[in-house]
Parts: sequence; structure tokens; C-alpha cells
Amino acid sequence: MDEHIYRRNSFKQREKMRKKRKRRKIFFSSVGVVLVLGAGGLFLKNTLLPMIYKVEDSFEKAPEPEAENPGETAKIEELPEVKEFTPKRPAEKITPEKAVPEVKDLKRLKEGSNHSYEASAYAYDTADVKAWMRGKKDFEGEGKLAFLTFDDGPHKNTEKVLDVLKRRNVPGTFFLLGDTVEKNGTPELMARYIQEGHGIAVHSYSHDYGYLYPGRSARADRIVEEYEKTRSQIRGLLGEGFDTHVFRFPGGSMSWKNIEEAQSALLSEGIVDIDWNSMSGDAEPKNRRPATPEAMGQYAMKTFKDNGDRKVAVILMHDVQNATPEYLDHLIDEFEEAGFAFGILK
Ligand SMILES: [Zn+2]
Repeated sequence: MDEHIYRRNSFKQREKMRKKRKRRKIFFSSVGVVLVLGAGGLFLKNTLLPMIYKVEDSFEKAPEPEAENPGETAKIEELPEVKEFTPKRPAEKITPEKAVPEVKDLKRLKEGSNHSYEASAYAYDTADVKAWMRGKKDFEGEGKLAFLTFDDGPHKNTEKVLDVLKRRNVPGTFFLLGDTVEKNGTPELMARYIQEGHGIAVHSYSHDYGYLYPGRSARADRIVEEYEKTRSQIRGLLGEGFDTHVFRFPGGSMSWKNIEEAQSALLSEGIVDIDWNSMSGDAEPKNRRPATPEAMGQYAMKTFKDNGDRKVAVILMHDVQNATPEYLDHLIDEFEEAGFAFGILK
């Protein structure tokens, strides 16, 4: 009996379950239909309709291309109303200088200096270079620095020296004599020094040892006077914007007595004198002068090493020597291969 009841119950239960499954099937089918319809609606709204509208838009826009109506475009660009209104603005407040920033020619002389705006990037204070060169201060920059310096010009060889420097893309500092500027200087040459990235310094007016150092003793007044005379000479060719604070004593500072007084007199005018710690030997007596262009380049490196082998080289050369344009390439090679960058003195 238990079995009978069980069977009857189980039959009822199975029937119940079957109906339940059917209801569930209908319910899920309905949900499925709703979902499919919803997704279809979204697709229609977000994707299909915009595409249709787009196509319609392009059909609407197509018949009026701007190019076919040049008269209209020209009218829009002219904007005559703006022109009429412009003078009503307070024009005096908008000066051309303020409205348009000055575009500088970076190769022209930087006001109050001895080099171009562009050369400012590698122009070093002479007082620093002097201290680095003598080991009184550590050079804390990256790598090593070389200063090519050319004394006693301008001269007929100067242009050749400038040609080499230009080809090698290396700057130098030219220590000019007022006397030779008067004889050989032209506005074009002075401008070339500046435009090609070099620095201009003073090396006295006369280079006359007897006048500047009578009895081998430095005359501070004459040295300052010759400095000023030479600067005026250069200003006559480059303009009043030129100034230089760099000086080299003819024969070097170490050759003369009483040099401290001259150095102080120059310093009181903001002028720093500088010697060298390397030389090409181009002005050495014949018996000591290196015999070949290659040897002159090597001599500069040797003298640099003999003088302390520091990170900063100030190399003495003379553009008045015929050998200079010939050995200069070798000298640059020596220092470039040893990892030096090149700067100018300011
Ligand atoms: Zn000299």
C-alpha cells in the first residue's frame, strides 16, 4: 500500500513537475524573446539608424561643396566688420614690440659681450677658466674643455684659420692687437668672428714690450690705456654693443715684474687676464719649434700634459703664423680624440 500511495503520489508529483518545467520553459522563452528584441532595438538605435542618418547627411551635404561657391568663401574671409571695429580699440596700449616678440638673429653680437647670442651656450667666464687651468678650482662639468686661442691678429692668415674652424665646427677666442685691427681690421672680418661663433679678446694695442714693461716692469696705466684704445678700435667696426672682459699680456703675465699692479688695475675695470697651459709651439724659436703640422698638434697635447694634465686646456696659437692654418686640423684632432669639447672665453 505504501507502494501504491507512493506511486499515486509520484504520478501527481511527476505531473506537477512537468507543468512546472513547462511554465519555466515559457517564462525563459519569453525572457529570451524580450532580450533579443531589446538587443535588436539597441542595435537599431545605436548602430543602424546613425548609419542611415549618416548616409542621408552625406547625400544632403553633397550638393553644396565650398569650392563651388568661391564668392561666399571670399566674403567670409574678408570680415569687413572686424576692420571697422579695430581702430576703436586702445591701440596705444598694444605696441608692436609687446604684441610680437622680437625674433633674434642668434648669430649677431650679444649686447655688451664679445660673442654672439648663439655662442653664449659655450662661453665661459675667464676667471673660472683661469682657476680651472691652474688647478685652483675643480672643473665640475662633464668631460674636458679646450679653449683655442689665437694671438696677434688680425692678419692675412686669419681668414684661413677661420675657414678651418668653420669646417671643423669648432670655436676659438681671438686676442686682437689694436694696432693690427687699425691696419687689417674690417667690419666684415669683425662680423665674421662673431657670426661664426668665436670670441674677441684684447692683447694690447702696441705689443711693445719696451713701452708696456719698461725695465721689464709692467706699467699698469699704459696697459689699461692700451686695453681701452683697442676696445674702442673694435667698437668702431662692430658697434658700441661690443665689450670684452678678456685680456692677455703680450709675452704672458709670468714674464714681467710688477704684474700684480697691472692685474688689479684691469680687474677694477672688470677685465680678467689669462695665459695658457698648452701651446702649439708655432712662435717658438726654430730650434724648439715642432717640425711638422702633425708634431705641432702633438706638442700642444704634450705641453698640456706637462702642465698638470687637468680637465681644462687653454691653447696658445698665433693666427699671424703661416703654419697655423696647416697644423690646426691636427691640433683639433688631438683634443677631439682625447674627448675635449671646445669653448670660448668671455
Ligand atoms: Zn702676442
